[in-house]
Amino acid sequence: MKEIILIKLGELVLKGLNRRAFEDTLLKNLRHHLEPLGKFDIRSRQSAVTVMPREEVDMDEAMDRVGHVFGIATYVRAGVAPKNMDKIELAAADYLRRELLAAHTFKVEAKRSDKKFPIKSPQICAELGGCLLEHFPNLKVDVHHPDVAVYVEVRDFGAYIHSNPKRGAGGIPVGTGGKAALLISGGIDSPVAAWRMARRGVELTAVHFASPPYTSERAEQKVVDLLTQVSSYAGRIPMYTVPFAHVQEEIRDKCPEDLFTLLMRRFMMRVSQQIAVQNDCLTLITGESLGQVASQTMQAICCTDACVSMPVFRPLIGSDKTEIVDTARKIGTFDISIEPYEDCCTVFTPKHPCTKPHEDKLERAEQLLDVEALVQECIQNASLRVVQPR
Ligand code: ATP
Ligand code: MG
Repeated sequence: MKEIILIKLGELVLKGLNRRAFEDTLLKNLRHHLEPLGKFDIRSRQSAVTVMPREEVDMDEAMDRVGHVFGIATYVRAGVAPKNMDKIELAAADYLRRELLAAHTFKVEAKRSDKKFPIKSPQICAELGGCLLEHFPNLKVDVHHPDVAVYVEVRDFGAYIHSNPKRGAGGIPVGTGGKAALLISGGIDSPVAAWRMARRGVELTAVHFASPPYTSERAEQKVVDLLTQVSSYAGRIPMYTVPFAHVQEEIRDKCPEDLFTLLMRRFMMRVSQQIAVQNDCLTLITGESLGQVASQTMQAICCTDACVSMPVFRPLIGSDKTEIVDTARKIGTFDISIEPYEDCCTVFTPKHPCTKPHEDKLERAEQLLDVEALVQECIQNASLRVVQPR
């Protein structure tokens, strides 16, 4: 039987006049996500999106990929039957055979979007319900808590038959929420922050600070691997790798030890802001969470913010580590994040970092450095690659 994926849109249905633009972006994103698997006909019709394969494709993989696209409330694999009650009955018994054999109870729900179809929804339910009871003696009807709900949606191009839909990735389509520069380390938090903002429609450009020879090539590859996983949701991500060892050596050699981390973070913000501007990004994103480490006290965060003019989005600011870890596992970044390669933040870390800094103290320390020249050196030596979903 011919199969499609039937998608119901998420929040974007609320967007009034913008709805069309949101829907177009969603369709474009679906095309990008599914393109590597083969040819599909993807259309929006009557408040749903249908994905029809135009050739033999791996439908399991297609379902997985659709599950990563933001802007989708639910999605389900559906069999397509001709719009004729006898054919619908045969198709439902055949298409959902395995699930119905394993169930004790079921119900039928019908939706007649094509008002030209002569049989009304309650009658579709009654007729199909009766037919399934005959075919499957193991079944009883339970309209409240059935093991399987059988859905029939009579739409313009056919009758779509399916069981319980899956919950989609939610959010709004990537590309409808503006562009932002993501500061990404090899840790657990920043990939989760990236996923959260992509889910709000944000298109990402990543900035990673690496400190060869203190950090290894493998540490940088780990960040590429993390972004590859994030890009399976967020789409392609340009990634800037910024060599950072010279900045760190300068701070270590010339500034008070307890300010090292904060001064380093202010450099990260300044460099990232310039890369953001070059890439038409309007905000920065970090994976900071209040009170998680010394550089994430309220005072420290105020000091890191103060050296840039762009808003800094910190989607994890109120999250506990356990919540962040749960999300990291769900989105497939956790196992990569816990690989043991060192991040540049662990190079030269002070034994007793200042947790309640004042900005004027940091500014005095920065007068010992040529801040502007160091920032420009970072920008000039940054390298760019584009990370794509697998
Ligand atoms: P994460 O788990 O994301 O590494 P963390 O708890 O280790 O976070 P920090 O090391 O203080 O916290 O980093 C805070 C934030 O600063 C990170 O979430 C990230 O946004 C940014 N950051 C840290 N290290 C780097 C780096 N090497 N390159 C780019 N951004 C970084
Ligand atoms: Mg880190």
